[in-house]
Amino acid sequence: MDAEQSFYQHIAQTSDHPMGLVVDKAEGPFIFTRDGKRYVDFISGIAVSSLGHRHPSVIEAVQQQLNKHLHVMVYGEFIQEPQSKYAELLTRQLPPQLDRVYFVNSGTEANEGALKLSKKHTGRHHFVAFRHGYHGDTHGSLSVTGRDVYRDPYLPLLPDVEFLEFNSPEMLESIDNKTAAVILEPIQGEGGIIPADREWLRAVRERCSEVGALLIFDEIQTGFYRTGTLFAFQHYGVVPDILCLAKAMAGGMPMGAFVSSSKIFEGFKQDPPLNHVTTFGGHPVSCAAACATLSELLKGDFGTKARHIEQKIKSTLDHPAIREIRGRGAMLGMELEEAERTRQVVEDCFAEGIILGWTLHSNTLVRLAPPLIMEDALLDDTLHTIMDILDRHW
Ligand code: PLP
Repeated sequence: MDAEQSFYQHIAQTSDHPMGLVVDKAEGPFIFTRDGKRYVDFISGIAVSSLGHRHPSVIEAVQQQLNKHLHVMVYGEFIQEPQSKYAELLTRQLPPQLDRVYFVNSGTEANEGALKLSKKHTGRHHFVAFRHGYHGDTHGSLSVTGRDVYRDPYLPLLPDVEFLEFNSPEMLESIDNKTAAVILEPIQGEGGIIPADREWLRAVRERCSEVGALLIFDEIQTGFYRTGTLFAFQHYGVVPDILCLAKAMAGGMPMGAFVSSSKIFEGFKQDPPLNHVTTFGGHPVSCAAACATLSELLKGDFGTKARHIEQKIKSTLDHPAIREIRGRGAMLGMELEEAERTRQVVEDCFAEGIILGWTLHSNTLVRLAPPLIMEDALLDDTLHTIMDILDRHW
């Protein structure tokens, strides 16, 4: 049985229509299929491959770590150099109160940890989240995800979650002295690329501080220069109590983290000890990859690159079919007039070797999130092909 047959017969499917690309290898901004076709990855494996695929520094770091050790112990017991080195490098980029990192394996695990940590620290169990927010598919993260269509099949979820309108100042008094935490994405990703308003985000921060609720920023998609700054909270000048990270963190290796203060993390050490552990969180190979990724990102002026990509995309994709291009940096969404033709555009791009996609919650929004290493010539070519395909349908 070849890989394709096995995929359809033995791999649990997530929809009736998988994209079904038969991947052979990937390099830089490209994915190559087994039959030799080249695709431009214009969504970075959903905001992961910011440095492109198989960045040489990441590959080298992984290989070096492979020669030393793989898993040696569950999280939090042994001192492993890649973890310590990365935690130091990461926290050096953050405001001083975000000085402790808890490593996990994925985005949803980072959010799970953040929710539990908030309960433990505040002794409260009420959460505030936002409509159209997306935080992952495990039970806790799903409980604070703001789309009923995804939540309803799995009810009951966490009982004490209240959803407010994103960017709406009206209901902020719902955040009160019973609230353990408020969780939000500074730029909603799967909800349709919706940036928070600066004043609103500041008001949320103020309200949380006023009532002693923790503020959790899910920067799983927005992190690591995707939006033009290392983290999106830097656009806003608003610092969360807990910062959740994953996706682009380790250059294509599985990795997540939630970052907070020593004081807040005290809760995880006692009552009882070991109340939040993970076997593979902070895997040494992933940490080595994360270290190489962040070092490369810091060297490369990737904030400027993300902003340059934004400007190029916004100025080139000028077409009557486009209602709006929104988002920041290289995390953009192109809103088209109508769902069926949007689907055709994405399909035609795919046929022409350009990988685009939707966001999870919107079928008229085309996700544009190229790797930050993409050169102008390839960017221009890709954008002109997208324009030609829009012409075909409108
Ligand atoms: N949070 C946000 C904002 C996301 O975009 C995602 C994934 O798309 C997640 C959480 C879940 O991350 P993971 O798929 O690594 O569990």
